[in-house]
Amino acid sequence: MSFDNLNLIYPLQRALTEEGYTTPTPIQELSIPHLLDGRDMIGIAQTGTGKTAAFILPILQNMSASHKTVKPRSPRVLVLAPTRELAAQIGDSFATYGKYTRYKHTVVFGGVGQTPQVRALSKGVDCLVATPGRLLDLIQQGHIRLSSVEYFVLDEADRMLDMGFLNDVNKIVDMLPKKRQSLFFSATMSPEISALARKMLSNPAQVEV
Ligand code: AMP
Repeated sequence: MSFDNLNLIYPLQRALTEEGYTTPTPIQELSIPHLLDGRDMIGIAQTGTGKTAAFILPILQNMSASHKTVKPRSPRVLVLAPTRELAAQIGDSFATYGKYTRYKHTVVFGGVGQTPQVRALSKGVDCLVATPGRLLDLIQQGHIRLSSVEYFVLDEADRMLDMGFLNDVNKIVDMLPKKRQSLFFSATMSPEISALARKMLSNPAQVEV
């Protein structure tokens, strides 16, 4: 199996080639076809399996199928991550894999001043990576609207619950447009985690590595 078999568009292939990636990892091989088809998905995968590229690549490809001018404060993609470190890593991955697309991304997380984050949002970003608390603060202050989100990713759902973010995540999911593609990643599954997945996904494909 090579990336050529996954029918990725040239700007994505080119970025992968530059990174020296030749072969998709198992989570990428299994997820990307479902995601390019527009399906919702539950991915059971640990960090280090290549799950970040497994969601970023098909999202960038799906977005590019409809040309839209992004409005300030209204991202098309929202990725929620439990920690600032993970959020920053996902932001770096958008930069790497999206290098030859025209999409802009930014990362917002707590514990640092919000002024540079607000400035980036006001210029308009296509893809937003956020931790839940700071996202809700910025929404309440009117710096972010979720009404244009077409693609939603909840990453490391199990850690999200361990860190006490269930209420925040539920609030955020309730603000999303009903018509969207949603992806849910967790390293482990429990009744609580699968209840959250059921709430935010519609007829999901399930992939486990
Ligand atoms: P992740 O699980 O998303 O944190 O990715 C783990 C690491 O694997 C990251 O450093 C990626 O840059 C790298 N990686 C992801 N996909 C591939 C691939 N298909 N080939 C080689 N390295 C990869």
